[in-house]
Amino acid sequence: MRITVIGTGYLGAVHAACMADIGHEVLGVDVDEAKIAALAEGRPPFFEPGLPDLLARTHERGNLRFGTSLQEAAEFGDVHFVCVGTPQRKGSYAADLKYVDAVVEGLARHLDRPSLIVGKSTVPVGTAARLAARIAELAPQAELAWNPEFLREGTAVLDTLEPDRLVVGVQSAHAADVLRSLYGRMVEAGTPFLVTDMATAELVKVAANSFLATKISFINAMAEVCEATGADVVPLAQAIGMDARIGPKFLAAGLGFGGGCLPKDIRAFIARAGELGVDQAVSFLREVDEINLRRRARTVELGLDLIDGSYRGTRIAVLGAAFKPNSDDIRDSPALDVAASIGRRGGDVVVYDPQALDNARRAHPELAYVNSLDEALTGADVTMVLTEWDEFQDMDPVAVGEQVAQRNMVDGRNILDPVAWRKAGWRYRALGRP
Ligand code: NAD
Repeated sequence: MRITVIGTGYLGAVHAACMADIGHEVLGVDVDEAKIAALAEGRPPFFEPGLPDLLARTHERGNLRFGTSLQEAAEFGDVHFVCVGTPQRKGSYAADLKYVDAVVEGLARHLDRPSLIVGKSTVPVGTAARLAARIAELAPQAELAWNPEFLREGTAVLDTLEPDRLVVGVQSAHAADVLRSLYGRMVEAGTPFLVTDMATAELVKVAANSFLATKISFINAMAEVCEATGADVVPLAQAIGMDARIGPKFLAAGLGFGGGCLPKDIRAFIARAGELGVDQAVSFLREVDEINLRRRARTVELGLDLIDGSYRGTRIAVLGAAFKPNSDDIRDSPALDVAASIGRRGGDVVVYDPQALDNARRAHPELAYVNSLDEALTGADVTMVLTEWDEFQDMDPVAVGEQVAQRNMVDGRNILDPVAWRKAGWRYRALGRP
């Protein structure tokens, strides 16, 4: 099929490359010319495992191109995926839909033959119905469907090529047939293909993210109780996770969630539920958000405990800047939030991350950055593990002990073995652990 992918960020670039990989003719479109120039040369504009190989493969095959024109997109494609950002609106919990609106308006104006516009961006329920009405005015031959995306940064390529499920919210059986055929390879491989109305499809995405955020905040709430009682949240999580009804995933207590999705998605859900008059139904999400943010403040306190109550004049090695490992995404990163907070309290913060340094530097130019773990550790009074990269998990407490000025460790992700670190002479603090 001839398809376009509009918005080639973390979601769209991977989607475009994967759709080309399964054999479609793909045009990726973005307003960011630098991003388009990189992609056109087969270079990923961000770090995502597997994406460089995929781009190189499709580049060679010649069925993936990039451009900046919506008119070209309208002329080229029969199916148009909308993958632009839906960030939190400034000064509000609500989602900012200006990019989605601009793309749908801009594209629909050029559509003069039957085509399918497919929203993939995460939007508040009701957005698709509003956009469908606008498309009916601007491009009566075009139809809208909503196909939320569940990929995770770090495993985005695999998640796209082998998804757990495909959810398509449609207004006609024809739209469902087009998408079933477009995703034919996945459907034939056994991926469940769920057809719903558009509102349900929009809500599936937001409900899934709300559940995941709640699960993380639940175990982090248990961590708070553990801290007050001397109990240990790690075996607690292990024990409750063995109940098949609960399951072990997303039960890792620590610094909590961040990134360009969960925080803004639960806030947008709170805002949308308010508009719909059902705020009480999701009022628990406010607490989920607050528990999550309290973990950041608690991590700053744990460091203070180790250096007698003031960060002034101390060197703090912050290990991690990305919101999660295997990504360079620093949007709403808990690690950088903690680093910035310590910096404001007078700490001499040195940040190291295997992939996210350039993005972190742009967002927080006030912090100092180094290009290696060794440089970060040298002379540190407190070392803080804030993103769970393998490189940090693999550190040898004896060797690292020789590099730092003082053996003070805050394990913000509960990935180190407290027994081994304490045995090597470290004062070890972690969230929810004695
Ligand atoms: P992103 O910021 O990385 O990418 C958005 C892209 O859209 C940017 O490259 C931007 O330049 C482009 N854009 C903005 N206005 C445009 C326009 N008028 N025309 C063409 N391009 C335009 O964001 P993302 O992480 O890829 O997220 C995109 C959407 O997907 C969001 O709604 C997000 O919630 C959702 N989502 C993201 C993920 C993820 O893991 N990143 C997963 C599932 C869903």
